Amino acid sequence: MNPAVLPGAAIGVLGSGQLGRMFAIAARRMGYRVHTLSPDYDTPTGQVADEEVTAPYEDLDAVRAFARGVDVVTFEFENVPAAAVAAASEIVPVRPAGAILETTQHRLREKTFLAKAGFPVTTFREVRSLSDLEKAIRAIGCPAVLKASTLSYDGKGQSRIDEPSEAPRAWQAIAGREAILEGFVRFEREASVIVARSLDGRIADFGLLENTHANHILDYSVASGETSRPLARDAVRMAGAVAEALDLVGVLCVELFVTADGKLLVNELAPRPHNSGHLTVDACVTSQFEQQLRAVCGLPLGSTRYLRAAAMANLLGDVWSEGEPDWLSAARYPDVKIHLYGKSEPRPRRKMGHLTALDESPGNALARVLEARSVLTRGRAAPAKAVAG
Ligand code: AMP
Repeated sequence: MNPAVLPGAAIGVLGSGQLGRMFAIAARRMGYRVHTLSPDYDTPTGQVADEEVTAPYEDLDAVRAFARGVDVVTFEFENVPAAAVAAASEIVPVRPAGAILETTQHRLREKTFLAKAGFPVTTFREVRSLSDLEKAIRAIGCPAVLKASTLSYDGKGQSRIDEPSEAPRAWQAIAGREAILEGFVRFEREASVIVARSLDGRIADFGLLENTHANHILDYSVASGETSRPLARDAVRMAGAVAEALDLVGVLCVELFVTADGKLLVNELAPRPHNSGHLTVDACVTSQFEQQLRAVCGLPLGSTRYLRAAAMANLLGDVWSEGEPDWLSAARYPDVKIHLYGKSEPRPRRKMGHLTALDESPGNALARVLEARSVLTRGRAAPAKAVAG
């Protein structure tokens, strides 16, 4: 029997944000049907899916009914409750598997898994009380970062501790939730590697992506174009090894710190396409979303070759603070692609869309994408002339 889920089949996506939207676009282009389930309606994914189901993840009967209508289930964010994934798995394959979600949706389990498997991570301790935290600070030293074990991302549910006396304040800041204390990493830069792993265990990667954050949220990413430098080679090898250790079928992003002496530390895992890989949509033969589709459907992976150098800049709700951004000016850049996620409410820090620039070199692509982003808010003044590609 051919286990592949072929075009024409229906794919269920748990979650309904922009990652599901871009996945659905890739899937529909290849002739698949896409159903999405989340507690919301008129969602970024639902707007482009064939079917949008609005139900809480805790409604396991709704999840089972949803699974009955599709051939395979995947998810677009890792905080889908384990029980929902288990309910769907009773009916159809869920890829990546629920056990991977359970590891990666919990910071302590994730770091413990990485450390046990021999991957380099910063020092860390489990924290369940203020006295645990004080002990952990004595063991790790300051500065350190306290992070709630679950539902903490983009700097939310996190608190930096510079002095032991700050322990009560930090404990309060994360509302006394189960947490992990991490040694503060004085990194030189942040990077990520996105890999896809197929049902038959083959791995494809998109090389080293260099990421710059602002206020704990990804601001822009550049495809480094590095494949031969030992650091890039090590990072790619490590990401593939993590995917293997997890026995993952799907896409995995490994977020990394690069220290001044060139060492790599794994910060976080995401068992799904990642914001730092959005540039692959325009820059690569096969995007991270098509790779997710191919992997979860049991198809061979596509080529990850870059057609051009690329950089991506996020558009947060803050870009709307003075009114509607000047799309016409940004559209005058012929090598910049505008991506918007269909969200109607541009709240500060909310990811509303992104721009991707394609150019001859990573440096040029980055300069171009930041320039295109800046004209969105530059007093509505259009650039004097169109910018040649
Ligand atoms: P996270 O939610 O764990 O990805 O953290 C968000 C951002 O906070 C990271 O991209 C880093 O810029 C910073 N950060 C997180 N953990 C650490 C750490 N242990 N040391 C230094 N910076 C950190």
